[in-house]
Amino acid sequence: MRVELRKNRSKPPRDKGWTREFHEHGFAEDAPLSEERVRAKGALSRRRTIVTAGDQPMPAVDTAACRRGRVLRIHGLHCIVESDDGECHRCAVRRLLKSLSTDERNIVATGDVVWFRPSPVADRSDAEIEGLIERVEPRHGMLTRESRGREHVLVANVDQVVIVMSILEPELKPHLIDRYLASAQLGGLDAVVCLNKCDLVPHELMQPIVGSYSQLGVPTLLTSAVTGTGIESLRERLRGRVTAFAGQSGVGKSTLLNALEPGLALRVRDVSAVNQKGRHTTTTAEIHKLAMGGWVVDTPGVRQLQLASVQPEEVEALLPEFVPFVTHCSFKDCTHIHEVGCQVLRAVRRHWISERRYASYVGMFTGLEPPAR
Ligand code: GDP
Ligand code: ZN
Repeated sequence: MRVELRKNRSKPPRDKGWTREFHEHGFAEDAPLSEERVRAKGALSRRRTIVTAGDQPMPAVDTAACRRGRVLRIHGLHCIVESDDGECHRCAVRRLLKSLSTDERNIVATGDVVWFRPSPVADRSDAEIEGLIERVEPRHGMLTRESRGREHVLVANVDQVVIVMSILEPELKPHLIDRYLASAQLGGLDAVVCLNKCDLVPHELMQPIVGSYSQLGVPTLLTSAVTGTGIESLRERLRGRVTAFAGQSGVGKSTLLNALEPGLALRVRDVSAVNQKGRHTTTTAEIHKLAMGGWVVDTPGVRQLQLASVQPEEVEALLPEFVPFVTHCSFKDCTHIHEVGCQVLRAVRRHWISERRYASYVGMFTGLEPPAR
């Protein structure tokens, strides 16, 4: 983590013309999505952010003259901000804020909570600008993407990830769930596992898998977008929070979103359709307000959370039930794969750690390990 931090800070400061950043990402957004690497980010980045924030504190704002809101999306140099009263405003970013951007991160990202000063209609040089963003509140729970060696915040202030998996068509992939869970853990995001298409399989067959995640403290729902099973429970989980939907294509995310709120998946799809036509207006992700309160994020780039930038030895910390055992291994740098005196292996033999989760660990560990020379 410290290495990353140093690496990050040693980068040359962004060159003049910060607008290039927006344009670059605008174009990057149109690149094939399969090449995107997205990961949830929190613990690692928070450390880094604190350092930056210490160097360059955000300016205080006159809260009587400014309004608070949330950035729903970014169009080139403008942000669409929804103020707390539910109105949308097209805002620009104050020059001072731009100059505070010490690293390559975007100074304003989708999901940010900001304070903006409404511009009086008479003063509007650019008729379109209705306000100037003067302050960005500290972020938590970011989803970031690595793009050309730079880290780009796709969505800030994400509270939780709903990991959608279908039980059949495509078949359930427990190891993939474990990977998504590890990504969420890495980002400090709460996770909910949503086992969809439960109409295709008798519920009692699903109890072991539901139980195994519940045991890990992960809320696990059986849902069917077709019969409506579990939709109400899912809705309760989303109320008032910012939720990202993740999962392979075909598992039913769009159908679920529509079951939660008719038209929602359509709105989400509109945006990506625009991108595919090669317009460069929508640069980052978009969040959508739910009528019942809360927001959802569903951009193609966010759907595939990945464990980018994680070292193999960091994987053990992403599986919470491993943590009590790892410190007792005979070797400090135990990989928990072949070592004598490994307490993780012992826990697996005694069924304190499930074999499936252990196999997921090995998969993540070896998947991240550089190939032997
Ligand atoms: P996405 O790619 O994750 O957005 O998946 P879609 O929402 O497009 O759904 C993929 C397919 O699965 C569609 O044919 C849906 O009709 C179907 N589907 C979605 N949810 C369910 C469900 O709960 N039960 C069943 N049987 N089919 C579903
Ligand atoms: Zn070990």
